[in-house]
Amino acid sequence: MDLPAAPAFALRTRLLTPLAAGGSRFETDGLLEVDADGRITFVGPGTERPDVLERAIDLRPWVVLPGMVDLHAHLPQFPNAGLGAGMDLLAWLEKYIFPLERGFDVPTAERVAPAAWRAFAAAGTTTALVYGAVYEASLDATFRAAEAHGIRAIVGKVMMDRGTYDPTIDPSTILERSLAESARLIERWHGAAGDRLRYAVTPRFAVSCTADLLRESADLAASTGAYWQTHVSEDKGEIAEVARLFPEAIDYVDVYDRAGGLGDRTVLAHAVHLSDRELDRLVETRTHVAHCPISNLFLASGVMPLGRYLDAGLSMGLGSDVAGGPDLSIFSVMRVGYYSQNARRVAGEERGPVLRPMDWLRLGSLGGAEALGLGDRIGSLEVGKEADLIAVDPAFTAPLPGIDDNDPEDLVSRLIFRAHPDMVRLAWVRGRRLEGPGVRG
Ligand SMILES: [Zn+2]
Repeated sequence: MDLPAAPAFALRTRLLTPLAAGGSRFETDGLLEVDADGRITFVGPGTERPDVLERAIDLRPWVVLPGMVDLHAHLPQFPNAGLGAGMDLLAWLEKYIFPLERGFDVPTAERVAPAAWRAFAAAGTTTALVYGAVYEASLDATFRAAEAHGIRAIVGKVMMDRGTYDPTIDPSTILERSLAESARLIERWHGAAGDRLRYAVTPRFAVSCTADLLRESADLAASTGAYWQTHVSEDKGEIAEVARLFPEAIDYVDVYDRAGGLGDRTVLAHAVHLSDRELDRLVETRTHVAHCPISNLFLASGVMPLGRYLDAGLSMGLGSDVAGGPDLSIFSVMRVGYYSQNARRVAGEERGPVLRPMDWLRLGSLGGAEALGLGDRIGSLEVGKEADLIAVDPAFTAPLPGIDDNDPEDLVSRLIFRAHPDMVRLAWVRGRRLEGPGVRG
């Protein structure tokens, strides 16, 4: 099969996508046309355009979906994914994470980052919001790798001016230096590659940042239009530590609120244990949350009361949180998210409506895109959007050979509950094919 590596092209395929206006679309014999600029110009039944269908590349029985959006991952931590079970967050950071980030120099970044971007694409992720390490030059290497690979990436240098893992930095200069480095990286990379690459100002979390760093970093994001990302309310031990370090704050969310960090360009990871006040404040400021249920169970952080947050109108997408989460696949994140909510139900803690597999698919694609302010560009297969797509072979998810689904709910249910590491066969961003899918190693 002659597979399209660059636009323009037309695909004859099964199609499954959430729709921006609500609901979803499924076509058993669909047509998807992408123009030379990598934009979708037609999505629908092939019968509507028989002349194009004739010469389209036939991917059937594969299914084309929008690429998944990973709202939270730590690229330097990839080598330790799956290690450290049984530890809590703060102990796990010391043992498994800080040594790895400390060693994330340029040669390491040049080796790990290209492989990590390919691994995202292989998992079906075409947009990723990612944390780097603290070193400016390693971020340049990480961005260069994303530029070459073709993935849509938003990355930030981790900022820490308390308990940093880099012993060579003089504590008295660290705040100024970290801000200057972040500002230079924004200059070089925010909006690069035709706005396919963007920058996120990235204070690690309140435990490793002073109030000054939080405030200055939020100012930097606001003045440059970059994103602002950090962690919030992940683990009970962490929450207690934040309360000790910021006695003037009402609660954890208030620490970021006082810094000017809340708002539409902000993505907070986890938010497992929010009080009603914190939840209301995030909704009111249109702050977004990356829900990372695999990580939350791996590190025994807790189970997000998802129904309560959705009822309140919180904007959410899904995150793998590798290496806090061992699995990069957003389909796996959906599965564990579903099981987590069932566990709450079994424990009598959740009485709200059950999210259907199609709702999880929406969270992992359009939900993430909207959280990044990219909902008008990506996250669903609709005319005018950029062609960030994946093609999945559902044969990998069949319980027995020969079983195939032609009902959209059944199809998406298998993709979530029987997600297979090789099921994503192709991925594109703006119609340009990404390396990674269909290749092992
Ligand atoms: Zn994280």
